[in-house]
Amino acid sequence: MNYAVDSKGFYGIFGGAYIPEMLQYNVEQLRSEYLKIIHEPAFQSEFNYLLKHYVGRPSPLYEAKRLSDKYKARIFLKREDLNHTGAHKINNTIGQILLAERLGKKRIIAETGAGQHGVATATVCALKNLECVVYMGSVDIERQAPNVARMRMLGARVVPATSGSQTLKDATNEAIRDWIQHPEDTHYIIGSVVGPHPYPDMVARFQSVISAEIREQLPEYTGSPDPDTIMACVGGGSNAAGTFYHYLDKEKVRLVAVEAAGEGIHSGRSAATSILGSVGIIHGSKTLLMQTADGQIIEPHSISAGLDYPGIGPLHAHLIRTGRAEVIAITDEEAVKAAFVLTRLEGIIPALESAHALAALDQMQYRPGENIVICLSGRGDKDLATYMKYLDTYESIV
Ligand SMILES: *Cc1c(COP(=O)(O)O)cnc(C)c1O
Repeated sequence: MNYAVDSKGFYGIFGGAYIPEMLQYNVEQLRSEYLKIIHEPAFQSEFNYLLKHYVGRPSPLYEAKRLSDKYKARIFLKREDLNHTGAHKINNTIGQILLAERLGKKRIIAETGAGQHGVATATVCALKNLECVVYMGSVDIERQAPNVARMRMLGARVVPATSGSQTLKDATNEAIRDWIQHPEDTHYIIGSVVGPHPYPDMVARFQSVISAEIREQLPEYTGSPDPDTIMACVGGGSNAAGTFYHYLDKEKVRLVAVEAAGEGIHSGRSAATSILGSVGIIHGSKTLLMQTADGQIIEPHSISAGLDYPGIGPLHAHLIRTGRAEVIAITDEEAVKAAFVLTRLEGIIPALESAHALAALDQMQYRPGENIVICLSGRGDKDLATYMKYLDTYESIV
């Protein structure tokens, strides 16, 4: 495979494991064990059982006929919004909790921004009766109260991160600090294809079930497992990695990664990481990130908390810099509008993150009738407070 990680954890020039001495033990243990463990038949059968009967997979591949009419293309939605806990994130947390169990870990830590990954982690910890600590920026704790309540109801301890901007990047720093202090008994469940090797590859493998299913489901409609175009939103990049995974080496399938442009790419309030970013190191990985000339991280902004991250996974940095994937950046306003369009045309309320991928249909060229698969990464229940502000604006949008 041309786009697979190499033995040192690199995708081209991106990736690797740039970690402090104190983390060597944990990361090396994970690196030397992860492939062996996930290939064990007993692991595979428990993973597949839980994906089927607990998460509700396979998630449907739905032909969105009214959306297709609007765009004069044949559009299929991969319905990750129908998963237990409402997004793709549970695919990864199930995989990692089974891994943690087999490594003999008793305690789980995680970082979360909007709380979606925190909820998915607290869920699998309840399922497996493991102690769960979730780090969350204190600003995010304020603005995501329902997910904080969910995590606590599931038995997790939610610890506020009070440094810096008190958001996702600071929560990640706190989680890393915790891990350094508890190298023996703790597993850190990272929520996207970011962090030191082997996390990007491990998370991509757990999420790759998305494209494995698309390849089984699409022939029913088109006679071929290969669409013309595949699209997904990119925060850290885990739903996109899972959606692209089994198509990476099929060069005739076009890959479109959709980033958050916030209030405009060059507005100073944006999260268009691959466009604005330069090569640097964030959270243990060499990748593209938004930084000042002297290497200070620039605070990102997006209306969707799941895309509000100053970096991007090393796989995506590689796909974009080699030209294998195209990037489109979508503003807050464009995403909200696309969410209303989908809701009115198909009766599906998407997550704000997923709405970025839908909005990209307005910005790209394609042949009439082209087959396009879009990953609908999550449902919009968590975003209702935002959508409520636009009910009058978009009352007669279609
Ligand atoms: C967290 C989240 C994202 C962004 O994370 P990725 O790792 O880039 O997939 C996208 N969509 C939803 C619904 C999310 O919850």
